[in-house]
Amino acid sequence: MPSIFTKIVRGEIPAHKVAETDEFLAFLDINPLAEGHTLAIPKKEIDYIFDIEDEHLAGLMAFAKRVAKAIEAVVPCERIGVSVIGLEVPHTHIHLIPINDIDDMNFSKPKLSPSPEELAELAAAIRREYEE
Ligand code: 5GP
Repeated sequence: MPSIFTKIVRGEIPAHKVAETDEFLAFLDINPLAEGHTLAIPKKEIDYIFDIEDEHLAGLMAFAKRVAKAIEAVVPCERIGVSVIGLEVPHTHIHLIPINDIDDMNFSKPKLSPSPEELAELAAAIRREYEE
């Protein structure tokens, strides 16, 4: 069965996309830890990040870097924290999270519940920066 993220890649379920290439996609996390929390994924469904072939993994990291710079330009923060967990969705995804403090990376914290309108507006702003 395809992962929820493969369904997003295929356009079968909606997501607030911020960046896309032939190989990679970035979209806002639906339950962010912080405003601007974004997931960068390979379109190819590979569960575990360290099963990704070297060149593809390097491409994913370079993509995540460019997305992080775009988030930074929109969301005031000290820097973008990076995390890979993958216990919930078995499709590699890099969490990119605007942080000011170590506690901002605490995945046990209550998540935010932004409205679809807020997510759409934020995604559009990040997309504009990414495309510049
Ligand atoms: P992990 O697998 O790294 O533990 O976490 C999966 C992440 O994916 C969570 O932060 C969760 O909020 C996010 N997520 C799960 N389902 C969806 C979805 O359908 N759309 C979006 N945009 N994010 C999702």
